[in-house]
Amino acid sequence: MLSFSDARRKVIEVVTDLSRDKSVTERIALNAALGRVLASPIAADRDYPPFNRATRDGFAVRAADLREPGAELKLAGEIRAGQSSSGILQPGDCVQIMTGAAPPDGADAVEMIEYTRVEQRRGNPHVHFDRAAQPGQNIVPRGSEARAGQILLNTGARLGYVELSLAAQVGCVQPEVWARPRVGILSTGDEVVNAAETPGPLQIRNGNSFSLAAQVESAGAEAVLLGNAPDEAGELKRRIAEGLKLDALVLSGGVSAGKYDLVEGVLAELKAEIYFDGVAIRPGRPAVFGERGGKPIFGLPGNPVSTMVTFELFVLPALDILSGAEPRPLPLLRAKLGAQLREKSGLAHFLPARIDWSSGEPVVTPVHWQGSGDVVALASTNCFLVVHESKLDYEVGEWVDVMPRRGAL
Ligand code: AMP
Ligand code: MG
Repeated sequence: MLSFSDARRKVIEVVTDLSRDKSVTERIALNAALGRVLASPIAADRDYPPFNRATRDGFAVRAADLREPGAELKLAGEIRAGQSSSGILQPGDCVQIMTGAAPPDGADAVEMIEYTRVEQRRGNPHVHFDRAAQPGQNIVPRGSEARAGQILLNTGARLGYVELSLAAQVGCVQPEVWARPRVGILSTGDEVVNAAETPGPLQIRNGNSFSLAAQVESAGAEAVLLGNAPDEAGELKRRIAEGLKLDALVLSGGVSAGKYDLVEGVLAELKAEIYFDGVAIRPGRPAVFGERGGKPIFGLPGNPVSTMVTFELFVLPALDILSGAEPRPLPLLRAKLGAQLREKSGLAHFLPARIDWSSGEPVVTPVHWQGSGDVVALASTNCFLVVHESKLDYEVGEWVDVMPRRGAL
């Protein structure tokens, strides 16, 4: 059985080979582009900053006039942000300047208002400077952040809040992005009913379609809900074949060893290529990954915590690649263990846990849970404590790996 890192690597390798060439791009409004991935680069439309920019409120000066502390200069006017200055700053003069304004020609430094005071000398305002000035201080030179034409965001960059601000600042209000991959979500199980229905005493409501849709959408892809398929091979096959018209398919349930776990058999009948059908992890051991007609297929175990964890480990990097981005790395934090841990099996464990920094250092403590069906316990967590297969016993205070829960940390 593959380790989770080898399984992840396999997914990344296979999906990288499948993806991109048939992808479609679109131009969309920047304010609707959060989370989208650039299909063409964004370049600087002009120098940045576009002019020498004062970074403090204060006085623009010639540094040569302020070689020593305690100098006084004549106040010759003011420049507000967005206003141009008229004329050249004369030796012995200074002008009041606001953050974001352009110092006048001749000025090569800005002194902060906090180190000055304005005094009247024979009815004329003068500025007293407490400190000497260095040439260039508190001025960001034109073009020092970027030159006109320079590429600022490459193809494949995901547009987060930083990138949106940058795109807006260079006037790219209609970025070209890849079409979002459409990801089918099909839960399986005779006992599973729609969440809006009243379940019979032995039925359960479909939670997985909601968690999967949320995970898909927050990954930047489009979730297409395909409902729930019964544990019956013919119908399951029809529903999977239908789902394979989309860009990727994520199934939940029906991949364990039970008599009515039919997903793998149906995938085989559909001549899907199966790359793995088990990973050395708990929860999530029976996870399946395959491909048919260029479309990745994930058969995730149906227990909700297993479904969620295996999505984060294996489906997420695949969706990044299908979206035109680099697969995001698995973010692991380090924290000190808050309670002794004894694990029995030689699998890697992802234990629902809480990490907390209130003591001044990161401390992670697993929560009490009833196993991989226990979403109630999971709702009180913010991370998974990662126990590697190579080491099963841990004492309080030992450093361990922690996988943050997206959205909770
Ligand atoms: P399975 O992987 O099909 O053997 O299912 C494992 C467990 O997860 C069973 O207890 C199922 O009832 C439960 N389960 C399966 N599908 C869902 C679902 N969509 N929502 C919530 N629980 C589910
Ligand atoms: Mg089932």
